[in-house]
Amino acid sequence: MGADQQIFAADNMEYSLTIDGLLMDKLLLLCKESDAVETGGILIGHYNSRHDNAIVTDVSSPPPDSKRGHTTFVRGIKGLQPWLQKLWTQQKRYYLGEWHFHPFNSPEPSTTDIDQLRKNSETPPLRCPEPVMLIIGGDPKGKWTARAFVAPKGSQVLEMNASTNIIQVDQKT
Ligand SMILES: [Zn+2]
Repeated sequence: MGADQQIFAADNMEYSLTIDGLLMDKLLLLCKESDAVETGGILIGHYNSRHDNAIVTDVSSPPPDSKRGHTTFVRGIKGLQPWLQKLWTQQKRYYLGEWHFHPFNSPEPSTTDIDQLRKNSETPPLRCPEPVMLIIGGDPKGKWTARAFVAPKGSQVLEMNASTNIIQVDQKT
């Protein structure tokens, strides 16, 4: 009994994010293991041909040099570069953005979260003009929720709302 595929879309439909159930399960397992401490990592994948849907195909666990507290998470970088290089060379997959967990709390992004999303996306080798951020909040063993955001270059961060119904139909065809 795993998590469902999650689809998030901005109201303007110019940005959306898709992550399948198996990857959500992996994230929820990392959250469970992390218990009351924040955890996170990066999201890897590719865009569709219209470049409006970021499709996640891999997620990282927290790099060992990450700083993790009860209400803070600063993702480290250790090990990411060779992994990204390999995924790019072998599968043309690349950095899409960040994910992290707010233990037993709402998945509301803090101002630090937003700042870090921008900062991370400007750091080589991650450079990404419109990084996404997935935040999981609540109890990973019970009632959890996820919210997703995108930071388009030169404009404000937009929320992509969970929209399982609308796009799923489109994707199955
Ligand atoms: Zn946060």
